[in-house]
Amino acid sequence: MFDLKDLYQEVIVDHNRRPRNFGALPDADRKLEGFNPLCGDRLTLYVKVAGDRIEDIRFDGTGCAISVASASLMTEAMKGKTLGEARKTFESFHEMVTARDGGGRGAALGKLAALAGVRDYPARVKCATLCWHTLHSLLHGGAAPVSTE
Ligand code: ZN
Repeated sequence: MFDLKDLYQEVIVDHNRRPRNFGALPDADRKLEGFNPLCGDRLTLYVKVAGDRIEDIRFDGTGCAISVASASLMTEAMKGKTLGEARKTFESFHEMVTARDGGGRGAALGKLAALAGVRDYPARVKCATLCWHTLHSLLHGGAAPVSTE
C-alpha cells in the first residue's frame, strides 16, 4: 500500500509542477470560470466540442496543488471523450472522492485515482472537484461562474 500511496503522491506533485493542457485555448467554443472560496482556487476552463466529442480542453488559473493537479489530470482524461463518457467519468470521480469506501470506482479511473485520498479531507474534496463541477456546468450550457460554496 505504501508504494501505491507514494506513486499517487508523485502523480499529484508532478501534475502540479507541470500542469498539462495549461493556458488559454484561443479557439475554444465554450469557457467557464470556477472558484473555490474556501481555499482560494480559481480556474478558467476552455473546451472545444466537435459533434458530441471533446476535441480539446485546456485550463488556466491559480490554486493549491490539489486543484491544479486535479484540473491537469481531468483535462488529460477528458480530451477525446464523448459527452456521455465525460459525464460517466464525472460521476465515477465524484463517487470516488465522496463515498466513504470510494465507491469501488477508483480502479476504472486510471491516473485520476491518484486523487482518491482527498475523501479523508472534506475541505480538499472541494479543491479536487472544482474543475469537475466547472466542466459539468460548462457542458450543460452553464454561463454563470461555478462556486463550490
Ligand atoms: Zn484548494
